[in-house]
Amino acid sequence: MSKNKKPKEERTEDSPRILKAVEIATKAHEGQLRKTGEPYINHPLAVKKILEDWQMDEDTIIAGILHDTVEDTDITLEQIKNEFGESVAFLVDGVTKLGKIRKNMGGLDTYLPETKDNFLRLMIATGNDIRVLIIKLADRLHNARTLSALPPDKQRKIALETLEIFAPLADRLNMGRLRVELADIAFSYVNPKRFEYLKNLIEENNKQAAKALKQIEDEVSDLLKKEKLDFKISGRIKSVYSLHKKLAKHNQNMGEIYDLTALRIIVPDITSCYLTLGLLHSLYTPMNGRIKDYIAKPKQNGYQSLHTTVITPNKKIVEFQIRTDKMHEYAERGLAASFYYNEQKLTENYKQGKIEHLPTNLLWITELQDAAAKLKEGKKVDLKKLRLNLFADKIFVYTPKGDIIDLPNGSLPLDFAFRLHSEIGGHVSGVKINGKMSNLNRKLEQGDVVEILTSKNQVPRESWLDKIFTSHARQKLKQLLSRGS
Ligand code: MN
Repeated sequence: MSKNKKPKEERTEDSPRILKAVEIATKAHEGQLRKTGEPYINHPLAVKKILEDWQMDEDTIIAGILHDTVEDTDITLEQIKNEFGESVAFLVDGVTKLGKIRKNMGGLDTYLPETKDNFLRLMIATGNDIRVLIIKLADRLHNARTLSALPPDKQRKIALETLEIFAPLADRLNMGRLRVELADIAFSYVNPKRFEYLKNLIEENNKQAAKALKQIEDEVSDLLKKEKLDFKISGRIKSVYSLHKKLAKHNQNMGEIYDLTALRIIVPDITSCYLTLGLLHSLYTPMNGRIKDYIAKPKQNGYQSLHTTVITPNKKIVEFQIRTDKMHEYAERGLAASFYYNEQKLTENYKQGKIEHLPTNLLWITELQDAAAKLKEGKKVDLKKLRLNLFADKIFVYTPKGDIIDLPNGSLPLDFAFRLHSEIGGHVSGVKINGKMSNLNRKLEQGDVVEILTSKNQVPRESWLDKIFTSHARQKLKQLLSRGS
C-alpha cells in the first residue's frame, strides 16, 4: 500500500489495482450464478461497495473483491500474491479459511450452538489480521440483504447464524450501524411475526410520541442555544431486535422500556457533553439509576456516550444520548472508523506487529493477535487474559488440555463436569481451577482452566443439586441419583 494514498473521501474512481482485481474476479466467476439468478460477480462487487462505504484501506477492498475466488474458481493464492502482494493474499486466505471451517463443521446443520467455540478458535486463528473479520462481515451483510433468494430452511439457518454470531461480532467491533442492520434482517427471518409486531409497535409509538418529542426537542434546543452550545439534535430509532431482547429481559413489560423514545445530542467536545447533561437535568427530572457515564467508563467495545432518562412536566419519559462527533462516528462505524482515522498507522503496525498506535479500547485486538501468533507457533495461550467476550451470556472455559467448553454464565464446576461426561460428573471428588484446589460452589469465570478430579469411590450426592446451574447437569445428576449409582 502506498504511503501517500489520499484520504478515502477523495477517492472518486477505482485505482488501477482495484480495477485489476475487478477484472480478474469478473473473469474467474464468469458463468457462475447466484441463487438470485444474477451473475455471481455482483456479490463480490457488492462486498467491494460495502467495504468502500466503510472506508477500508485498498488491500482490504481488493481482498473483498477476490474473497470467493480461491474457494470457488481456478484462481490460486499464489496468483493473488504475485499480482497483489502478500497482504492481500493473506486476507483472502483468511476469509477462505473462515468459510472452510464452517463446511468442515458438517455444513449448515451443526453451526449452532456447538460451533460457537469453534468460531472463537477460528477468530483467534485469523485474528492475526482483524481485517479478515471485516471482510467476512461485509460478505455476510450482502448475503443477509439478499437472503430472500434462498429456500426457507436455508434462510432460517443463515439468519440464526447471523443473529448469534455475526451481529454480536459487529457489536464487539462497535460497528453499531452494521449490528442493527444484520440483527434486524436476521430477526425478520427467524421470527417474522414477532418482527412485524414489534416493528409496528415502534412505528406506532414514534407516531404517537412525535408531537411531544418535537416539543421537547424545541425546548432543549432553545436552552442549549441560550448557553451558546454548538450542537445537533435528532431522534434515534430503536432497532426491532434490541427491543425484542429488552422485552425478554423485562418479562415483556412495555412499561419498563424507557428508551423506546430517545433523542441524541451531538456536541463538539467532552466538556460540552457534561454541560449538556447538566442543562437537561435543570430542565427535566432525571430518573433514578438511569444516568450512565459511558464517557468516563466506556463499554467494553469502546462505545462512549452519556445516557440519561428524564421525565418531562407532561410526564413523558425520554432517553437522551449525548456524545461528541467523534464518539458518534465510532459508535456507528466502530473498528472500521478506526481504520479510517489511523489507516496508515494501524495497518502498518499490524504488519509489523507493533501496537502502540491502537486506541486503548481496541486493545483486545492486540491480545487476539498475540494469541494467534502463539497458537501458530504451537505455544500455549493464556486464554484467561483474552477479553474476547463476544457472547455475553456465555463463558468459555478450558480443560487442562486446552479444549474450549462453552457454558452459560453462572455455571459451576459440576456443570462443567457433566458437560464433559456424566461418568465424570458422577464421580467428582474435587476441582482445580487455574491449577489451585477450589470448591464446587465457585462460579466459573471466563477463561478459567478447570480440572475435574474424580474418584471411583465417589458417588453422586443429592446435595450436589444445589451446586448446579445448568438444566443439562441437573437432569444428568437426577438420572444418576434415581439409578442409585
Ligand atoms: Mn462471499
